[in-house]
Amino acid sequence: MRRMAAHWCLPWPCVAALLTMLSCTLPSAARANCRDELPWQALAPGVWVWPPAVDGEIGPTNAGHVVPTTVIVHGRQALVIDPGPSRAHGLRVRRSVACRFGAQVRWIINTHAHAENVLGNAAFADRLARGRLEILANATTRAAMAQRCSDCLASLTARLGEVPMADTHIVLPSRILGEGEVLRLGPYRLKVLPTEKGHTDGDLLLWEPRLRLLWVGGLVYGQRLPELAQGSVDGWLAALDRVAELRPMVVVGKTVSVATEPDALPPALVSTRQYLADLRAAVLEAMDIGKQAHEADSLALPAYTSWAGYAERQGLNAQRAWRELEPIWMERGPGPVSAPQDVGR
Ligand SMILES: [Zn+2]
Repeated sequence: MRRMAAHWCLPWPCVAALLTMLSCTLPSAARANCRDELPWQALAPGVWVWPPAVDGEIGPTNAGHVVPTTVIVHGRQALVIDPGPSRAHGLRVRRSVACRFGAQVRWIINTHAHAENVLGNAAFADRLARGRLEILANATTRAAMAQRCSDCLASLTARLGEVPMADTHIVLPSRILGEGEVLRLGPYRLKVLPTEKGHTDGDLLLWEPRLRLLWVGGLVYGQRLPELAQGSVDGWLAALDRVAELRPMVVVGKTVSVATEPDALPPALVSTRQYLADLRAAVLEAMDIGKQAHEADSLALPAYTSWAGYAERQGLNAQRAWRELEPIWMERGPGPVSAPQDVGR
């Protein structure tokens, strides 16, 4: 039987190979004199991601670049997902998209209302004002940005210094995304999945089914401790179970993670879920043996001490999980903790 010619080199082995080919598939549209050095990595033809150099906490050495920025390019139009922590970062993205890909950014998507994801909107304020660009987010994220972004900007500036945050200001989304909406750009289809309440109370998920690419905002971390402060441990676990059911080949969250085998899940999805399940079990076990809420911040999970942010966040995560789980434990009473499902195989 004659096989259909592959329109793109996509299924799984090609993605794994593409991730190792940082610059060998540059688009012909790039300008000949372009000296752009941003380390875009190909996730699929036309889909590029600029990941952080290492999994780390926000600090002066990374200028706040701790989450990946994605660009999807079709012809001379581009869509950016999470433009980064500052105007400076957003400007680097904007210039690179023009120089390297010969395109203009027409759409920006903010996955959730955290400073390192959304403050890069500031680099596009002029294009927004001229009606040449839309900034998209769900209603919860827009409301949270309006309420909290000023504090987030002040906090990030205090951590990074004035120079990397220069001229960064709050630019709110201009259009609200609805669940089930499908964003179309050339051959790409980004479906807006139901809003999750795990990492925040308004986690946006975007699913490209043909490529099996999933953007999950803050729901998947690499070797860095997940941040639960504004989230829900049970909501997060449920969200990751729904994500797993999609069988994504690549997830882009706080890190980029690619399945290593055709029938496996991206490893960061599995390890993030395992951390949350271990945190949940440890908190319930502490309640079972009579520990008190004020002892939660000393609840250790030794398997994760090598992850970035462990020292800063493990105690806070345990306190947050304690507050959430205490009513459940009181309802249930002391007893064996049910083992979490293993979604990794
Ligand atoms: Zn986040």
